[in-house]
Amino acid sequence: ASLSNKIAAGEVVERPASVVKELVENAVDAGSTKIRIAVAEGGLQSISVLDNGAGIRLDELEAAFSRHATSKIQSDRDLFRIRTLGFRGEALPSIASVSRLTLMTSPDGAEGGKIVLHGGEIQSRTQSPPKQGTEVIVEDLFYNTPARLKYLKTIHTELGHISDSINRFAMAHPEIAFELTHDERTLLKTSGSSKLLQVLQQIYGLQAARGMRRFEAETDDFTIEGYAGSPVDARASRSYLTFVFNGRYVRSIPLAKAVQAGYDQLLPIGKYPICCVHVTLHPLLMDVNVHPSKLEIRLSKEKELQHLLEETIRGVWNKEAV
Ligand code: ADP
Ligand code: MG
Repeated sequence: ASLSNKIAAGEVVERPASVVKELVENAVDAGSTKIRIAVAEGGLQSISVLDNGAGIRLDELEAAFSRHATSKIQSDRDLFRIRTLGFRGEALPSIASVSRLTLMTSPDGAEGGKIVLHGGEIQSRTQSPPKQGTEVIVEDLFYNTPARLKYLKTIHTELGHISDSINRFAMAHPEIAFELTHDERTLLKTSGSSKLLQVLQQIYGLQAARGMRRFEAETDDFTIEGYAGSPVDARASRSYLTFVFNGRYVRSIPLAKAVQAGYDQLLPIGKYPICCVHVTLHPLLMDVNVHPSKLEIRLSKEKELQHLLEETIRGVWNKEAV
């Protein structure tokens, strides 16, 4: 079991940011309204994610670290209508197999449990304070996989990936209060007020947020809403585009092209606007089970969505509107 966890870790846990992403996904799935992420040395020394969600039942604490033990999917049918961010049941065992991990949880705010694993082996199982929610602390990531450790970039680069990931979560879930700190310095703090524009302002600055235009539209299959930045603020990278499908951040080149096309000649060649698009659709129309990172999806009716997005953007950013 330990070996297969380590193999899975190679796919799921590429770098500190992947650990952060998986732990925050779990916190979101647990219905948390507040999630605090604290990292030290770009996540290489430690990563801690604290939430106020549902917690893990104490009699299921060990099981959460065995492979494919997910509480989120009961049948094959569920796999095609995924509503949670996690569903593969491999994040916790994978992360635990390549780090020293401590998890404390209190499912009903009454009794708490604590479990410590080193390289996937349980070291201790004790009581913890009765504080509603879950805290996971991951230390010395890749300490037992030196080859992986060597491949990591500088603290600065790893922190950049972590920060980007939390920014996406905050845009995907404006209703959750996120706080990210690095070596005690606060990098992002959102209020959880549900106001997407407020989150965009915190991430991209007041100036950029002021130039944004709100849009919304729907067809029988899709609802889209979000903010499209001014062409004056256009950037040379696609990474300023954020697509959120039913609360999940995903990458999509076809949709990036649709946004770009909607601006017609307003954008300089090769530039992208800052833009955040929330798409709501029936889970059956999207396949998330494409890659362990869950960043890629396959969409039915992609052309229809592309068209809707392009026309909607054109509606708020056209020559006359400038
Ligand atoms: P998955 O998210 O795919 O189900 P994970 O390995 O990420 O698998 O987590 C295993 C299980 O542990 C989850 O199904 C969930 O029941 C539980 N769990 C993990 N983290 C949390 C958390 N922060 N709050 C509540 N439950 C959690
Ligand atoms: Mg998970």
